[in-house]
Amino acid sequence: DAALLEVKRTGRGRHAFYSEAMTERHKVQDRIRSHLGAAIRDGELFLEFQPQFDIARRKMVSAEALLRWQCSRTGRLVPPSEFIPIAEESDLIWAIDTLVLDQACQTASHWLRGPNRLERIAVNLSPHSFQRLDLIHRVASALKVWSIPADCLEVEITEGVLLSDSPQVLANLDALADLGVRIALDDFGTGYSNIAYLARLKPDLLKIDRSFLREADDLRKTRIVEGISQLADTLGAETLIEGVETEADLLFSRNAGCQYAQGFHLARPMSADALTAFLQGTPAEGRPMPAAVR
Ligand code: C2E
Ligand code: MG
Ligand code: MG
Ligand code: MG
Repeated sequence: DAALLEVKRTGRGRHAFYSEAMTERHKVQDRIRSHLGAAIRDGELFLEFQPQFDIARRKMVSAEALLRWQCSRTGRLVPPSEFIPIAEESDLIWAIDTLVLDQACQTASHWLRGPNRLERIAVNLSPHSFQRLDLIHRVASALKVWSIPADCLEVEITEGVLLSDSPQVLANLDALADLGVRIALDDFGTGYSNIAYLARLKPDLLKIDRSFLREADDLRKTRIVEGISQLADTLGAETLIEGVETEADLLFSRNAGCQYAQGFHLARPMSADALTAFLQGTPAEGRPMPAAVR
């Protein structure tokens, strides 16, 4: 057991508790933690936009802003699922959410004008930002600066925001609704929604999580999505289904009563310039949905 003693003596034994993968993951997280602040200041974060389609009207009506980080040091495109949770450990998330809000409003301001205009722009906000006293002020000023009517902005929040019964969160949600901003519940069905809270909140849109299109057999899937559509109806909300990857997904979504659809089958997230081009040459009725479903 000389080898074991040797390991103990040098402290290498502790590493045995971590798998290689774990250590690698922690290293990546540490690196993100130490470079994210500078990346925000240096303008390494930018937005892509993914079209959202009205299924019945068969046209694009909105776009969701999705954050990207092209890390200049590693050249890697860091996915938001890696850096948003780290940003949420500190005030960096507020820097990110306000940046996204301003950039999305600026970029979308001309898509929201003109004859073939989009009806809305959707922006993700972290539940953490709903604890801020100045959230409403920041939203109102972004709308004012870019002359965007309040009902053209849709704020996407996850059900996580409903878990806290913080009065500040409720006050912010109420103030946003009073302003006329639309409220969408993102990844709906994956959290633990407090139904009473949900009714009080009066969301405008339930974004049904894409897992409902992937998991469960067809009958259960249909029943669940129909059930969510009925709940939305009761709440006076509309539904959008995310993760539409095939024509079959789209057909299913329409039959289950969803109003809107988003997913790789319809359009991938794209740069602002690509979206402007995507909208170009749009007929007066609007950008048609690139799918066969009738
Ligand atoms: P989300 O808001 O639910 O965004 C949808 C995610 O699904 C996006 O991933 C999008 O690229 C992806 N997606 C869209 N269509 C399909 C499809 O057909 N199939 C599949 N497999 N995926 C599809 P992304 O961009 O990596 O974003 C992941 C999450 O990161 C977002 O989920 C959101 O929670 C968060 N996030 C993204 N941008 C922001 C932001 O600006 N602020 C905040 N606070 N969070 C953000
Ligand atoms: Mg979202
Ligand atoms: Mg979502
Ligand atoms: Mg999601």
